[in-house]
Amino acid sequence: MARVLNFSAGPAALPEPVLQRAAEEMLDWHGSGMSVMEMSHRGKQFVEIASGAEQTLRELLQVPDNYRVLFLQGGASGMFSAAPMNLLRGASRADYVNTGAWSKKAIAEAKKYCDVNVAAASPQGELTIPAQAGWQLSDDAAYLHYTPNETISGVEFHWVPQVDAPLVVDMSSTILSRPINVSDYGLIYAGAQKNIGPAGITVVIVRDDLIGNALPQTPAVWDFKAQAEADSMLNTPPTYAWYIAGLVFEWIRDNGGLQAMGERNRRKADTLYRAIDTSDFYRNPVDPDCRSWMNVPFILANADLDKTFLSEAAEAGLHTLAGHRSVGGMRASIYNAMPQDGVDALVSFMQDFERRYG
Ligand SMILES: *Cc1c(COP(=O)(O)O)cnc(C)c1O
Repeated sequence: MARVLNFSAGPAALPEPVLQRAAEEMLDWHGSGMSVMEMSHRGKQFVEIASGAEQTLRELLQVPDNYRVLFLQGGASGMFSAAPMNLLRGASRADYVNTGAWSKKAIAEAKKYCDVNVAAASPQGELTIPAQAGWQLSDDAAYLHYTPNETISGVEFHWVPQVDAPLVVDMSSTILSRPINVSDYGLIYAGAQKNIGPAGITVVIVRDDLIGNALPQTPAVWDFKAQAEADSMLNTPPTYAWYIAGLVFEWIRDNGGLQAMGERNRRKADTLYRAIDTSDFYRNPVDPDCRSWMNVPFILANADLDKTFLSEAAEAGLHTLAGHRSVGGMRASIYNAMPQDGVDALVSFMQDFERRYG
């Protein structure tokens, strides 16, 4: 068996020990005689798996008791609708910050439900985050939505906005990469397929007092209050994805928790940015103050070499390095499951490629 180094932005690499354990437990989970995939979601065994996953996640993120943790479907894109549906609470306006492609999609969806005030936007063509001093906040916004990490362009907030309205954040590509203070936020949501587990499950962490006032047309499966009361089992949840997410949470806990993840991730990102910055052959187009620890785009000085770079990288066992189809170039996604060794191997390959073609 030869596993490659997978730099995919998502669905992304999972920790190998998690996959091994899932393989061992595949046919017979803990003597149950069945796979987790085959269990009733209402049975004692799956309920134990589900609540265990929630408990481990709560411990990792130190989620305060007045927050509900939900495991839903629909991905982060579903939450682009569910956020306004649940959090407008009688208001008709919400503030949004636009720092890239995912912000734009969240804004487009929110416009179906409310008056969206784009409080700030990155200037056209600039990969940066506008300073909060210049934001045009509205007085009557139900919440402020922003994207802490723009997965496509690699633009990341290294600060938390200070506003009166509750913060609503799409943490799909940065959750669990380092410690956060959950109480800074009203609503955190994240599609699982970057840093949590397999595609198909969406983690929602929401402050208790913000739910219970959803728009009347809200689908029941996206009504946060209804799902909280049903322990996220208003309908059949994605049981296997939930189970794997639980194994990932345990893997993080057993490897030092979010503090250790943060240190590892910072070191990995530093290694890669240093290699890019000390070369004239590669370039990262993002404002250095907003560089993502998770998604590192880079451009070759000569774009004619892109195809050769990608094919030789794949031969060297380094996969899925093409930038998003909307931006081109390269992108290395280095979530929790990518070890330092993987980043070191990428840097060695890049240096060797530059020696041969630079
Ligand atoms: C991947 C991603 C999404 C889309 O997630 P889906 O689960 O496919 O809907 C949204 N926002 C961000 C920041 C992402 O990285």
